[in-house]
Amino acid sequence: MRTFSGIAASPGIVMGKLCIIDRSRSIVPEYSIPTESVSHETARLELAIENTRIELETLKSRLAETSGEDHLFFIETHLMILADERLVSETSEIIRTGMINAEGALRRTLHRYHEAFANIDDPYLRERISDVETVIERVLRSMSGETAEPLPQADSKMIIAAHDLSPADMLQINRSSVLAVITEIGGRTSHTAILARALDLPSVMGVEGITDLLLDGAPVIVDGVSGTVIVDPDQETFQSSLRRKQHYEYVEYELLKTADLPAITLDGHQMHLRGNVEIPEEGASVLAHGGSGAGLYRTEMLFMNRSFMPDEEEQLLIYRAMQQAIAPHPLTIRTLDAGGDKLLEGMDQAVELNPALGVRAIRLSLSMPEEFKKQLRAILRVSADGPVKIMFPMISGMEEVRRAKSLLEEIKLELAASDISFDKEIQVGVMIEIPGAVILADLLAREVDFFSVGTNDLIQYTLAIDRSNEQLSHMYQPLHPAVLRSLRRIVQAAHGAGIPACLCGEMAGDPLYLPVLLGLGFDELSMGAGSLLRVKQILRRCTLERAAAIAEGCFAFSTAAEVEMYLKSQITLDVAESID
Ligand code: PEP
Ligand code: MG
Repeated sequence: MRTFSGIAASPGIVMGKLCIIDRSRSIVPEYSIPTESVSHETARLELAIENTRIELETLKSRLAETSGEDHLFFIETHLMILADERLVSETSEIIRTGMINAEGALRRTLHRYHEAFANIDDPYLRERISDVETVIERVLRSMSGETAEPLPQADSKMIIAAHDLSPADMLQINRSSVLAVITEIGGRTSHTAILARALDLPSVMGVEGITDLLLDGAPVIVDGVSGTVIVDPDQETFQSSLRRKQHYEYVEYELLKTADLPAITLDGHQMHLRGNVEIPEEGASVLAHGGSGAGLYRTEMLFMNRSFMPDEEEQLLIYRAMQQAIAPHPLTIRTLDAGGDKLLEGMDQAVELNPALGVRAIRLSLSMPEEFKKQLRAILRVSADGPVKIMFPMISGMEEVRRAKSLLEEIKLELAASDISFDKEIQVGVMIEIPGAVILADLLAREVDFFSVGTNDLIQYTLAIDRSNEQLSHMYQPLHPAVLRSLRRIVQAAHGAGIPACLCGEMAGDPLYLPVLLGLGFDELSMGAGSLLRVKQILRRCTLERAAAIAEGCFAFSTAAEVEMYLKSQITLDVAESID
């Protein structure tokens, strides 16, 4: 028996037979070449890149027929990496100066990319190295004469283990013959992991050395909840994992039964519980978990890992897929929230000394109005199909809202003049994530149709705690009295102006905070699909009156730790008292 620890990339516990597929790690010999072979090796490199391009184009057309257009941006990303001239020029340079073969030079280029990506702070961007690796592996396979085989299709159920699986591989997975996937590289925010969750396929990633074991066909347990893989389990381990699996599935099953129950308190107060989404695949999961729409669609996904911005038609295609996935419920589309640590490729951005306070989100969009207008047009056009709202991120003052709204009005006039339909009454909201916006909330509330609080950033800016700095994570406190006072002020300002107060930061998905947020008067919470049912469970066990008292009680304390202790005592009591 061998136990491996990795990253819990997609939940679920399954047992099955291991099927190791070696599709992405080629054995690459590196050897010296004489001067006269340099041009031959360079030509081999160029030919392999061209063959790989043709292979990807073919895969793209095949997927367009079988899976629809929605998934194609993964392959587009790979085609773009392949089209980057630096791949050829840097590798050719290594062939020439190092006097080595094309395969060896390509491996060295990959090594350089690894080093460059390792220095990137943003974990999402750092993991994009896996896309580069996938592309380079394809080129290497092409040079060795191997073709990229489709994933093996088995009669019986199997657990796939691979050094890496590309998003395109994930899209080819036959859900009826594959139980789970294990990879040696990749992380929770990789496209592959996102698709595993979207496909509801248990997955553990970052399991070093799993494919080195010559254990094809061995029994294996994949625990996507804890991030553990056990190969050849003994009887006792198998039995205990089976009990864990049964318990996990029982809890999920019981929770799923509550998906259709209304999100109301014991005294009949309704709260909208919606999902946060990034790709159209997540829409179905939000609905399956009882979400009444998507309160935050992070559109950045579509803009990243590419050297040019998506045009209006491409955006429309993806937004439409998302709208259809969420229909008939409302979809709140947030305009591009890039910049800062989420740099877009191909954009001429200066390196900023203080990127979290730099040209990001709405500031970035307003700095490139032509691109911003494309996004606004695409959002307005999709609003003709069903309930869609638009939301601007990181608003710091009235000018920004007015400028964004006036661009929106401009686009509305253009569309109307061209007889293109859109929702003329589309609701426009702003994210409240900057302390200045909290202070100005009463004024901002008069300008918009709703507020949505981004607590991830609001906490960061209120407490001056970098949300991605591990060393300060203990100080990143949602229950900090300053944060709670800000939340109270935001709700009061919204309700004072007669508009709803929503909250879509991570805070919304923690059941412990539910009574406080309900008691403060929030009308809507938006969270990851996996949190919806647990939050609703607590909501259904509360009364609005009790929640208001709990929320009020929080203001008697002066530290986050005190508030948390108080809250835990109250919630245990509340739930115990009201279990049906
Ligand atoms: C937030 O800041 O809370 C939020 C929802 O936006 P993001 O996490 O995308 O910055
Ligand atoms: Mg934010």
